[in-house]
Amino acid sequence: MVAALRVFAAGLLFAGLAVPVIAAELGVPGVRGGVVATSEPLAAQAGARVLRAGGNAIDAAAAVAFALNVIEPQSSGIGGGGFMMIHMGESGETFIVDSRETAPAAVTPRMFEDPAKPGGAIVWPLRSTSGFAVGVPGMVKGLATALERWGTISLADALAPAIRFAESGFHVTARLEGSVTSARLMSDPGAPAYDAARAVFHPGGTPLAENDLLMQPDLARTLRAIAAQGPAAVYTCGFDPANDIAQAIVDTQRHSRVANPAGAGRMTCDDLASYDVAIRQPVRGSYRGYEIVSMPPPSSGGLTVIQILKLIEPFPLGDEAQGFGFGAPKTLHVTIEAMRLAFADRALWMGDTDFVALPVKGLIDARYMARRQPLIDAGARRGEALAGDPRPFDTAALPSATKLARAALPGEEGRNTTHFTVADRHGNIVTYTNTIESAWGTGLMVPGFGFLLNNELTDFNRLPRANPDPDSFNPGANDVAPAKRPRSSMAPTMIFKNGKPIAAFGSPGGSTIISSVVNTAINLIDHKMTVQEAVDAPRIAQTGAEGPTRREIGFDFSAIEALEAMGHSFRAPRAIGSVQAIVIDPNNGVLHGAADRRRTGGVVSLR
Ligand code: GLU
Repeated sequence: MVAALRVFAAGLLFAGLAVPVIAAELGVPGVRGGVVATSEPLAAQAGARVLRAGGNAIDAAAAVAFALNVIEPQSSGIGGGGFMMIHMGESGETFIVDSRETAPAAVTPRMFEDPAKPGGAIVWPLRSTSGFAVGVPGMVKGLATALERWGTISLADALAPAIRFAESGFHVTARLEGSVTSARLMSDPGAPAYDAARAVFHPGGTPLAENDLLMQPDLARTLRAIAAQGPAAVYTCGFDPANDIAQAIVDTQRHSRVANPAGAGRMTCDDLASYDVAIRQPVRGSYRGYEIVSMPPPSSGGLTVIQILKLIEPFPLGDEAQGFGFGAPKTLHVTIEAMRLAFADRALWMGDTDFVALPVKGLIDARYMARRQPLIDAGARRGEALAGDPRPFDTAALPSATKLARAALPGEEGRNTTHFTVADRHGNIVTYTNTIESAWGTGLMVPGFGFLLNNELTDFNRLPRANPDPDSFNPGANDVAPAKRPRSSMAPTMIFKNGKPIAAFGSPGGSTIISSVVNTAINLIDHKMTVQEAVDAPRIAQTGAEGPTRREIGFDFSAIEALEAMGHSFRAPRAIGSVQAIVIDPNNGVLHGAADRRRTGGVVSLR
């Protein structure tokens, strides 16, 4: 159910015009005053109030992000990090504020190896709930930086709605009720940091239920401290000895699981003090005359999205006369094949380019893509989808290896996180994916301070893969290293036409994010759907070169059978992603927002 104050669906007509026209749907006009599209209506309202009071999209996004820490605490918060893509209306610049978590200085490439099982990793349930999974959190520094440089309100003003929700409480949503019995909140009874989370979400030992009033006084105290003291409250041990949030973070992640003596966190006060936000330029590619602007490394999101779209481009996905069209077996087959090939490259070539030299330009170079496109046969599934070698297309200085590598299956990634999109009346747009990795992160809550710590370091390779042997070359793009950012799949994305943004969106969902973003882009561009239709339509997701495809219900069974006959296989249907999107008419700035019905969903549109 979309509990929207006003949900305006919009039409995108790409009728061969130089500039696409966005049509109002069912006579509902779009708006010019701003749109906030989020997974939770209360957070959308918090952002809209900021816009109404004269704030810009960056201000509103900061208010939404802090509010979501309170209202959707399982998905994101100040114990985590994310990628905030910003487009500035006046200058036309598009960039990303990267507040991704970093690895502490004391990590080692083999830190996830099970001492009792050399060559094997500590099992996921233990690995992902232990202190060593916690990355140095980035959200507070990220938002403080964004507000200082591109916002108009103070950090304290951006925190005000969140503080109000934490102090006065809010009514638990059905979605929060559905998540609160998670096994990730059940670790180690008697251990203070796990008990602290249970005390909030299982008050008196009973999990919260829909409509319960949830007040979070500890979190309110923390947010008030950040409002008064700025990021130093979180990043400088001893800054406020009476209220030492930074020291409490360090102490909390030293906890491990009883069953995982190897899993104590390695983060120190120095790691917190040296955390740095990065401002990054997006990666850019073209698709059927539109420019796709998306998230660069350390995320694999943008490169993989662009690769998939380029691999699909030779096929007329929108043309029913040629057997394609939404949901047709041919369309789904070609899309799955493109995803398999792109994920093969992702497994080998993507990671934090601040630490490993990777052929980022080569991966989306037109010549490299032209070599990869013929690997898709519209009539047959490939036996194996292997990674290619983009290095010759990246720079002449690097040696060219001819041997193709087998892509490893990716590690587990969470299905949580939150994505929201804000546009203001000045043409500024923010599209922001924010996360603590798994739902409830590690399940470790900083006692007395009311926020959860992420398990983002589990996005690294669980065992090192670097291999200099030219025959099985592997750059170890995503091996653990000190201060490195784990490879993400998050893909805040904008579509441009003639240099102007016409759509902005993204999704949570671990490595399915990439597919949700591709599905949405194809729905808008090839299937000419309205923005709400594009968000609602059933999705498929491939998260590796091999392995079954994920799908949602809603596809014709005959199409699925036809694909199975070709050799594709599918997991049991489950919801994929949660896309919050805005489309923009570049001619007049009219905005249309859509929230995903797969979560609660809330859109506020300002006239
Ligand atoms: N750790 C995930 C990533 O960065 C968070 C995204 C998600 O789980 O939705 O890819």
